[in-house]
Amino acid sequence: MRTLQGIAVSPGVAIGEALIVDNEGFRIPRRFVMRDAVDDELERLDHAIDAVAAEIETNRDAVSNRLGEQYGAIFSAHVQMLRDPSLYREIVGLIRTKHYSPEYAVSRTLRQFAKVFEELDSDYLAERVHDIFDIERSLLAKLLGERREELSHVTSPVVVLAHNLTPSETASLDSRFVLGFVTEIGGAGGHTAIVAKGMEIPAVVGMGQFLTDVSGGDLLIVDGDHGRVVLQPDEETIARYRHEAEEHRSLAVRLEELRDLPAETTDGQHIQLNANIEFPREAKVCLDRGADGIGLYRTEFLYLGATSEPTEEDHYNAYAEVIRKMDGRPVVIRTLDLGADKLGQLPQDEQNPFLGLRSIRLSLRNLPLFRTQLRAIARASALGTVKVMFPLISTLADLRQAKMVVADMLEDLEEAGVEFDRDMAVGMMVEVPAAVTMLDRFLKEVDFISIGTNDLIQYALAVDRSNNEVADRYQASDPAVLRLIDQSLTGAREAGVPASVCGQMGGEPAYIMLLLGLGLRSASVPPSAVPEIKKICRSVSIPQCEEIAGRAMAMDSAREIDTYLREELRKVAPELAPS
Ligand code: PEP
Ligand code: MG
Repeated sequence: MRTLQGIAVSPGVAIGEALIVDNEGFRIPRRFVMRDAVDDELERLDHAIDAVAAEIETNRDAVSNRLGEQYGAIFSAHVQMLRDPSLYREIVGLIRTKHYSPEYAVSRTLRQFAKVFEELDSDYLAERVHDIFDIERSLLAKLLGERREELSHVTSPVVVLAHNLTPSETASLDSRFVLGFVTEIGGAGGHTAIVAKGMEIPAVVGMGQFLTDVSGGDLLIVDGDHGRVVLQPDEETIARYRHEAEEHRSLAVRLEELRDLPAETTDGQHIQLNANIEFPREAKVCLDRGADGIGLYRTEFLYLGATSEPTEEDHYNAYAEVIRKMDGRPVVIRTLDLGADKLGQLPQDEQNPFLGLRSIRLSLRNLPLFRTQLRAIARASALGTVKVMFPLISTLADLRQAKMVVADMLEDLEEAGVEFDRDMAVGMMVEVPAAVTMLDRFLKEVDFISIGTNDLIQYALAVDRSNNEVADRYQASDPAVLRLIDQSLTGAREAGVPASVCGQMGGEPAYIMLLLGLGLRSASVPPSAVPEIKKICRSVSIPQCEEIAGRAMAMDSAREIDTYLREELRKVAPELAPS
């Protein structure tokens, strides 16, 4: 048994067999083959080995001709390794005696070899590990051939292990079968993490290199509360985690009783508690969890995984589904926040995607796309209480230009006699420090603001929200971040403009009292966090929260503030405080 530490991003416990998705997206589809298929499977293995050997030999000859024999020798070493009799014996043995599929037997054997090489104290042998993975990749490519399966087609319970998952890959996971997932890279603020939480799949990211230590089919535990992954757990550990999972379930059942009650503090202050969604199907989850409305609809997810550009009708249908489901409750539709971080690929020459052509900048650069979406939002506004919100506003010019496009579009609809809500509120996200600095001006031109702490943290602290290398610096409770939030809430209150927080921070039990103390009266959180946040709101008074905020704001570091807030949470709602 081994316990590894990563970054906890989506709570809950998952216990299951590993399904490894390597860098190239291969998954090892089957662990076992039928007894009478063993000979055919061995033949498939031989063909794959021959084909890979032929490929390497062709490369060797080409390189030798161009660069000389000594360079070709590298490839000869690969062929030697591939044709190694003991390696072959081991793989064939697993297929014959254990009835493993050739894919699984190859992956398991080569990964074990790689591990032995890695552990030997020799730079030369450690380098050979790359060769082993190269051979594994080539063999799997041949074996899987046309049968390479999609991650979204998993049909038995598994824990997905990957170097990385893009937000759209994460969104395509079938939560009936994917019990949890673990990735080598990624940070707490990344969109993969956000989607995992939205889908309520326990997840740990930013583990660092660990895939070489696991074979497909190994049993493991994902502890999404503490960011731990236990490889090959013993019986006692499994029993302990089963118990923890049971406690999760019973807490959820107890919190369900709050569903139809308001998020009202003990001294009678109503808190508007909305939820964040990425997909229309989540509107039902928001209602099931007892949300008052939708405070952030991340519409860009309509684009992720789509094979063609969504039409105005595609947009309209998605929004209409949500608005009808919410039945008069407010729905804040955020215009496209597309960028390289979500697409999982870098546009050409975009070295710093978070500082690049993302979000409202992309919409303003691509007006037909922006207008299409805005028309759909305006048409859908006739069906309920819709507000439109612009992401990543950093200058007054951005806001004014976006509002102008809205005004133009509404004029067109009016002329065409299309129905829409003439009082549709228009707001902006506050997620760039420049917007906080200039907030007094912005507040004169918007109907509401929503503080996007996920981005505000990264831009205030200059820390990439999805990079595990700097994840320890990505701190919501950093005093600099808290001052920006305080400044925004105070400014909005003085200007009489409604303000909300829709970043993940608002859904963290440890932070909600602090935010209420700073004047927050409306939050939008992941649907799964609604019951917990409601419970805390109903357990505290505003003066109590103001006292907590006062103390926290006088502290110097995120660490000190976090320790203090955890203690305060333990006093108010011990069952929600992290152990
Ligand atoms: C945010 O930045 O806090 C936010 C809510 O938007 P997103 O996470 O989609 O960037
Ligand atoms: Mg954002």
